[in-house]
Amino acid sequence: MVGGRQVVTITSRATSFTAVCELCAELETGAGWAGSTFAGQLDLDLGHGTFLCRRGHTVRVERAPSRAGTATSAAA
Ligand SMILES: [Zn+2]
Repeated sequence: MVGGRQVVTITSRATSFTAVCELCAELETGAGWAGSTFAGQLDLDLGHGTFLCRRGHTVRVERAPSRAGTATSAAA
C-alpha cells in the first residue's frame, strides 16, 4: 500500500541487524546505499520491533520463525 511501512525480516537468532531504509534509498539514489543503511538490535525474546532510520522513517523488523532441526538459513 502507498505509504506503508517497510518491513525487514531478520533471522530467528539474530540480535543485531543492518537494514536498508527504502525511503532513504530513494532519496539517495545518487549517493549509493551507504547513506540509507541503519543498524539496530532486537533481543531474542522479542519477535518484532519498530525502528527508526537515521532520518526518522519507521521500519518494522520481524524475526523469522525459528525452525526445528537444522539451523541453516535459507535466505532466497
Ligand atoms: Zn529512511
